[in-house]
Amino acid sequence: MANVLCVLYDDPVDGYPPAYPRDEIPTIERYHDGQPTPTPEGIGFRPGELLGCVSGELGLREFLEAGGHRLTVTSDKDGPDSAFERELPEADVVISQPFWPAYLTAERIAKAPSLKLAITAGIGSDHVDLQAAIERQITVAEVTYSNSISVSEHVVMMILALVRNYIPSYQVVVDGGWNIADCVERSYDLEGMQVGTVGAGRIGSAVLRRLKPFEVGLHYTDQHRLPESAEAELGLTFHPDASSLVEVCDVVTINAPLHPGTEGMFDDALLDQMKRGAYLVNTARGKICDRDAIARALESGRLAGYAGDVWFPQPAPRDHPWRSMPHHGMTPHVSGTSLSAQARYAAGTREILECFLDGRPIREEYLIVDAGALAGSGAHSYSAGDSTGGSDEAARFTEGRAG
Ligand code: NDP
Repeated sequence: MANVLCVLYDDPVDGYPPAYPRDEIPTIERYHDGQPTPTPEGIGFRPGELLGCVSGELGLREFLEAGGHRLTVTSDKDGPDSAFERELPEADVVISQPFWPAYLTAERIAKAPSLKLAITAGIGSDHVDLQAAIERQITVAEVTYSNSISVSEHVVMMILALVRNYIPSYQVVVDGGWNIADCVERSYDLEGMQVGTVGAGRIGSAVLRRLKPFEVGLHYTDQHRLPESAEAELGLTFHPDASSLVEVCDVVTINAPLHPGTEGMFDDALLDQMKRGAYLVNTARGKICDRDAIARALESGRLAGYAGDVWFPQPAPRDHPWRSMPHHGMTPHVSGTSLSAQARYAAGTREILECFLDGRPIREEYLIVDAGALAGSGAHSYSAGDSTGGSDEAARFTEGRAG
């Protein structure tokens, strides 16, 4: 019998939805590189349902209880009195989503003697102290590729929203106005601009593919260079580092994981190298950017806009400067948790659990840490160490419990 502890975000304020705007979602069988989408033996939900909130339970309850396992689901994740900390000592498996991360720090791992598997229902396992997981031989797995396309669509949307000044123009309409000059005094065409991504993995390269028809110059930097054929097909310019990329780009998007090699990468020094009036879109992780340096760059005009959906900590405190800085297009962490994405990562979570419970190997591409070392996708894209520091701050939002 396994104890599975699952941390999910709260239900909608008006309760779990009785109906949805659409009756179905498209079936995707393979991703762009040919990798099959999740292949569990079964699923306990209808694709298109809200699965990532507490009542959605990732569709796991029937499956787990039929196998004699125990499933505990909570959204109460921060601070020493949280349900998460209370349940942790008994947990064999922890499941958490990056949108509402259960920060699995070294201290918490020390309080979980039975913990063998930490699953990220989604992509990005920086909320787990990977170093501590390595040392404790805990397997860390995520549902690689499950929401990469979801995020790439969001990135394209945010780039257009910032460059075209969409959000303030929408607000003019909502406010009953017709102030055209106010709308367009910060509005440009994307056509002809230079757009670069820091990280050209699944999301970054999908952003590049989606932007090609916009007739922009495309740039990237990455730890590993893409094949020549991919560079030629998209007309990409490779940069050896972020610094040489930002100097020439009008729009920069960050699509690298958070690990000790990327934490704090966009600081005052790197922002100062960007073109005046550049746009920055970060759907990767909040901590890749220096929080206060971003706010300063918007206030000084170094950046014309900043958008993204990732913060540190999450949930962001009410007084987080990214809520109130000028010319931002921030949302809560939503880009990778569309209903379409949820269907894939819930199925992938089930696939990982089936493998773990049957003693079968977990797909190599889902592994971040295994057998005391970085493994699979983790060995390719992460560096060992810890990026969870400071996560106690998240409790501040819950204490205020508003918004
Ligand atoms: P991938 O692993 O496919 O791509 C990440 C890329 O970043 C890899 O090519 C990797 O290099 C590269 N990279 C790592 N470190 C650096 C560095 N120091 N400089 C430049 N490039 C670097 O992951 P995805 O594209 O699927 O996802 C990327 C990140 O996006 C996730 O880790 C997660 O943090 C975030 N994400 C956000 C979501 C959201 O809802 N907002 C949802 C899903 C993901 P290489 O592998 O070549 O070494």
